[in-house]
Amino acid sequence: MAATTESQARRLMARLDALAAFSDDPLKLTRLCLSQAHRRAAEQFIAWARESGLSARVDPVGNVRARYEGRRPGAPALMIGSHIDTVRDAGRYDGALGALAALSLVDGLAAQERRLDVAIEIVAFGDEEGVRFPHTLTGSRGLVGVNEPETLAQKDADGVSMRDALKAFGGDPDHLGAARAEGVAAFVELHIEQGPVLEAEGRPLGVVTAINGATRLSAVVTGSAGHAGASPMNLRRDALAAAAEMMLAIEARALSEDELVATVGRLDVEPGAVNVIPGRARFSIDVRAPLDEPRRRAVADIAAAMQAVARRLGVALELTPTHEAKGYVCHPKIVAGLEAAVVAVGADPRLLPSGAGHDTMIMGQRWPAGMLFVRCKGGISHNPAESISEDDCAIALAALTRFVEDFRPS
Ligand SMILES: [Zn+2]
Repeated sequence: MAATTESQARRLMARLDALAAFSDDPLKLTRLCLSQAHRRAAEQFIAWARESGLSARVDPVGNVRARYEGRRPGAPALMIGSHIDTVRDAGRYDGALGALAALSLVDGLAAQERRLDVAIEIVAFGDEEGVRFPHTLTGSRGLVGVNEPETLAQKDADGVSMRDALKAFGGDPDHLGAARAEGVAAFVELHIEQGPVLEAEGRPLGVVTAINGATRLSAVVTGSAGHAGASPMNLRRDALAAAAEMMLAIEARALSEDELVATVGRLDVEPGAVNVIPGRARFSIDVRAPLDEPRRRAVADIAAAMQAVARRLGVALELTPTHEAKGYVCHPKIVAGLEAAVVAVGADPRLLPSGAGHDTMIMGQRWPAGMLFVRCKGGISHNPAESISEDDCAIALAALTRFVEDFRPS
């Protein structure tokens, strides 16, 4: 690895530590969308961009943006970045790594006074995690120009509207349309994997093939409550026992297919007493897969299997879809370019889907887009224990730089 990349990586790791100090909670890292801590983190980001000779700004929708001009002024731009908002009690690498890596990459070019055929547009999105407001990804939606008119009216748990939060942050809710980006050739996001695959296979980098779509359902199983001592087993209609069988059927279906995942993450039991047979069980189902068709088939199979369990055990089942997001297949040109860049820096690229959603899936609606994953310790994310090594950071930065150098706008 070139010495410059190593020193860039060291500096990037130091900046990631420094950015983690901007938190809404003094005891843990919580930097919610458009909060005071987000505002201070954005100001720090702008100050760092200034050190590299860039003028950075907050755009109308709350993204931080900066441009490193190409050889020709007004050249098409390769946009690079990720988000700087976090979940509650977050790790310091989710999002921040990709946003600050874009800055490091430009630092490296500026230090050598290198200009490329493309301009580099840096973006630090502000609304990826969806913790504060129900509608999320408003930053990337703003660049693409697909924010819904009702977005600004949505309120957080304290009753603060996004319009007011955005105004206080330094955005311009009255001119959201002005955030729409023009002259962009492609978008690339570097991100921690947030899963265990790369670490398990001993590889530092992965190239994302697709971002999983998701279907969420809510299930209500109704049996009949009764005395836990007085009702013989063969005369019961136990809603929770039926729900348990349904959950095993969901798990079995997900296990039957590569890259399909399904999770029951919430369960409420009524009446919820130690000596009463459960009369009702409500639970959530979250099904994800890189491609939409296999996901829809899996959801249909799961629904059929659950109905079969309900019929056999004499309980009622009500299944309601609550959320549907299409998957995004990363652009083949970006996937191929990232693969070649990973090989060029001496790593073995692993192609894999992303189980989590990202701004890339919105950016991909308008421009060729793709993602590079970095291995993270234990696959842990959304947790203060999130961790990456400086060596992996260096190789990721080298691969991203290589991708940018070889990128040709078509
Ligand atoms: Zn993220």
